[in-house]
Amino acid sequence: MNAFELTANDEMIAWLKVLRRPEADEERVYHGFFATEDVAGCLDVALDPLPFRNKEACPLCQRPSHQLRWVRYSSPADAWARGGGVLGALSLCDKCGIQVQFTADQH
Ligand SMILES: [Zn+2]
Repeated sequence: MNAFELTANDEMIAWLKVLRRPEADEERVYHGFFATEDVAGCLDVALDPLPFRNKEACPLCQRPSHQLRWVRYSSPADAWARGGGVLGALSLCDKCGIQVQFTADQH
């Protein structure tokens, strides 16, 4: 697999803006490139945000990349079984409940 990146385009940002914001006492849900339940399964694999300080800021609240939550995202097992799995670094905005940027590992 070649390295690739995903960032929100204008159409996606427009969609993310109309989503309901998460309540403080709710379980975190992050909308974006990947299914929210798949992202929820990766939240315990946290990454140090400092190496990502020059990445994309949140497109909604402009929070800089090193203040976002970074996790190691891996596709669920069935995606790997179909040959469509991806692995890489994913940034999440806790305030907006969105996925901001995904950088796939190079294999
Ligand atoms: Zn945000």
